[in-house]
Amino acid sequence: MGRRKKIVQECEKLMDKPEQIRNIAIAAHVDHGKTTLTDNLLAGAGMIADEGEATRLMMDTEEDEQERGITIDAANVSMTHEYQDKNHLINLIDTPGHVDFGGDVTRAMRAVDGALVVVDAVEGAMPQTETVVRQALREGVKPALFINKVDRLISELQEGPEEMQQRLTEVIGDVNELIRGMTEDMDGVDDWTVSVEDGTVAFGSALYKWGVSLPSMQETGMSFGDIIELEQDGKRQELHERTPLSDVVLDMVAKHFPNPLNSQPRRIPRVWRGDDQTELARQMREVDDDGEVVFMVTDISMDPHAGEIATGRLFSGTIKKGQELYVSGTAGKNRVQSVGIFMGGEREELDRGVPAGNIAAVTGLRDAIAGSTVSSVEMTPFESIEHISEPVITKS
Ligand code: GDP
Repeated sequence: MGRRKKIVQECEKLMDKPEQIRNIAIAAHVDHGKTTLTDNLLAGAGMIADEGEATRLMMDTEEDEQERGITIDAANVSMTHEYQDKNHLINLIDTPGHVDFGGDVTRAMRAVDGALVVVDAVEGAMPQTETVVRQALREGVKPALFINKVDRLISELQEGPEEMQQRLTEVIGDVNELIRGMTEDMDGVDDWTVSVEDGTVAFGSALYKWGVSLPSMQETGMSFGDIIELEQDGKRQELHERTPLSDVVLDMVAKHFPNPLNSQPRRIPRVWRGDDQTELARQMREVDDDGEVVFMVTDISMDPHAGEIATGRLFSGTIKKGQELYVSGTAGKNRVQSVGIFMGGEREELDRGVPAGNIAAVTGLRDAIAGSTVSSVEMTPFESIEHISEPVITKS
């Protein structure tokens, strides 16, 4: 059996186990390393050979963006990762890194439960880092932090351990200030600030494919000193082999990001203003795959063969070929022509359908636009997705 086929089968098995699903986005200021990190994750999960170019083609779906070297469209990919003897299905949504595409970033956030925030260690948190963190938090999406380009601190800037620590602490402090400010009064959130101690911060080099976190150091027995020494000596391949970035980050994702069962009870009241006493509300909170279909479209893309593909989060029910579904804001119903998941730029159709808690790619929803609520019963649509394109200036 081909590798791709195997991965599809693995994903299919895990789709029915919401406690093993993580829906995530990577959010970053442009050039901080989102694409390079994504390459690492896909290669680590066995999706592609260990080469950057392959993923650029997988994730950067628009020719236009390949020419300009920036990521415009939110592409999606599903992969599997084993953590503590349990396999996990990780549905990753790629978000645009460019400042003009704030609306797309926010839409992607509606589909996920965790956001991996990437910050360049040399540049530090930038205005757009603030914007993406705000967008995630407003949607009730839990953050974790990856500080990238640490190789540059060591090899280029020749910083010593203290200087480096100071710099990393500063980045963590800046991100936490934002998180604290926005989550103080948020229902169902105790403390979402990130820290090295609890394993919600990792750092490393997406370019040279190594990464560390406190749990990873405990596991590999490597100290920060060992890492600095190896990087200084240019032994990057050894660093990659001994402490691969993809394992460190995907372990963090599996451990610290909520699964749909944990997340939906908290998120549904934030994004849906319907009657919370109804059976439908219960089905959405509980990720009931036998319930009514409730699908929120977060992105529409064009496929030369299949036509328009609506991608989004399925909060309840199981979406299947042939279903007649309501599309919010329109009169009639649309018939589902195919349902599947994304594997890189390619869509994999699944005849058995896709159950609640997943990110699905659906064709046939010709009236749907990004932001539509698609459902098997008429219902109050989800709140429209507000986007913030500029950091909000708070009054002092
Ligand atoms: P994106 O705009 O956030 O997707 O950023 P990219 O992944 O395209 O990276 C932007 C630039 O930074 C590219 O030239 C990468 O090769 C470089 N880069 C990414 N990660 C690292 C890293 O860990 N170390 C160094 N030195 N360069 C990196």
